[in-house]
Amino acid sequence: MAVSITCYGGVSEIGGNKFLVEDDELRLLLDFGIAFGRQQEYFNEFLRPRSTRGLLDPVALELIPPLEGLYRHDLTAPGFWERFNNQPQYRNLLADGRDRAVDAIFLSHAHLDHNGDVSYVDRDIPVFCSRVTAMITRALQCTGGTSLDREMIWINPRQFDNEGNCGSARAPYEARNYYFVDGPLSPDAAVLWQSSPGSKDLLAPRYEPDLPDRLGITYRQWPVDHSIPGATCYAVHTSAGWVAYTGDIRFHGCYGSNTRDCADGLADLHPEALLCEGTHIEDDKQVSEGEIVENALPLIRNASGKLVVADFGARNVERLQTFLRLAAETGRKLAVQPKDIYLLECISLADPGLFPDPWQLPALTVYADPKASQRIWERALRQKWIDRTVYPADVCTMPGKYILAWSLWDLNDLLDLQGIEGGIYIYSNSKAYDEEQAADLDRLRNWVKKMGLVLYGDPDDKDAVPLHSSGHASGPELVSFVKQVNPRCLIPVHTEHPLWWQSQLADTDIQILNPEVGIPLQVS
Ligand SMILES: [Zn+2]
Repeated sequence: MAVSITCYGGVSEIGGNKFLVEDDELRLLLDFGIAFGRQQEYFNEFLRPRSTRGLLDPVALELIPPLEGLYRHDLTAPGFWERFNNQPQYRNLLADGRDRAVDAIFLSHAHLDHNGDVSYVDRDIPVFCSRVTAMITRALQCTGGTSLDREMIWINPRQFDNEGNCGSARAPYEARNYYFVDGPLSPDAAVLWQSSPGSKDLLAPRYEPDLPDRLGITYRQWPVDHSIPGATCYAVHTSAGWVAYTGDIRFHGCYGSNTRDCADGLADLHPEALLCEGTHIEDDKQVSEGEIVENALPLIRNASGKLVVADFGARNVERLQTFLRLAAETGRKLAVQPKDIYLLECISLADPGLFPDPWQLPALTVYADPKASQRIWERALRQKWIDRTVYPADVCTMPGKYILAWSLWDLNDLLDLQGIEGGIYIYSNSKAYDEEQAADLDRLRNWVKKMGLVLYGDPDDKDAVPLHSSGHASGPELVSFVKQVNPRCLIPVHTEHPLWWQSQLADTDIQILNPEVGIPLQVS
């Protein structure tokens, strides 16, 4: 039987990657992420998908594909698929007597546009990813909101009542079946992995070392460089040859050599097909992490005696390490939120080589952000870090002793601080990609101005010194990567400009297969 790849997201869009690989009996999904762009066409932070309707909102709005059998039974109302079984993309993946809709989902990394929609998937479907990806996802679910669309690791079982409302079944949490592609967790990490995140019981997660063999899955995996640790590139073996998937990659971060090693490994396999990201193909050159240190160091030195706020993505651990270094070099402490420390502890448990035990880093402190209630993990963490906690009064007394690792969402806490005028705000984050993000950036500028701080790294200021490094490779880097791997065919994904590849690969034999949503591409 021919091997096919069907893209249900990540087609002429950045994010929402969902690729179904089918080879006779074997069915694998590569990523199952949220299409934020399409989601924002209908929803914002106030208008949200209704968990009380189970699968209805995301399926009706085509945010997740109409694939019967793939999703959680507890979210599927009786007769649900009768409403959608005439949609062009509808398929019953449990037809022909199959007992599992797909055999496994491979997750490339823990950004929500790659793993978020796993929340809706049947909990028995095994999820393959790196230890770090699993532990970051766990930390996010643990420290984030409790909404239905963040149940990537454990699920809070629901049930429909007689009026068609989907509500809590008041049953223990149920763990998904995760398989770690880079080896089992250490005993300490396993204790955390198996523990319940709240006061409810957690049905113990399974870990089956022989799972790939049992499912008949042959794969290779390589760690790759991206703006979150644990990112992984995969190749899965099919009867047509190897099908490879980059996830999100770059070459200019601290682990750029991993991506180059991955290219070597993929080239040796002579893949039949390569699904390759192209987020920033329009960029010719990327700013490196080293340049951020060079550019930010004089700014922080010049702000001697004054407060420094550093704004960067919390999961961008490399950037956090950059600011830790800058703090140590300028005699300051980096104060982060409790959830950031929790995330770092999880990463360290999953892979101590990637990040040390945060407690061992003397420049790292936790900021006592004022909260009315604290969850179990947070109470324990604050207790442990009590002697390394920075309070608003500490910052008011000696603002020049600290770098606060904050973002727009923390800026109302600036109102607790007095005497910080003349300090600096380093925006070390990406530019606005849509109107909503542009409005957020305007809000940020208003806060910074109101508090008497000076903004650096404004992405709309052409003359601003660069203070952000992207998580994605430049166009020329991606072209040389694909030419080196030399797949028989390339499937451009996670880009708004899939046709860009035509001219770039015109001097090669690589065939370009441009995907359309829900239409299978034959690769053999
Ligand atoms: Zn990513």
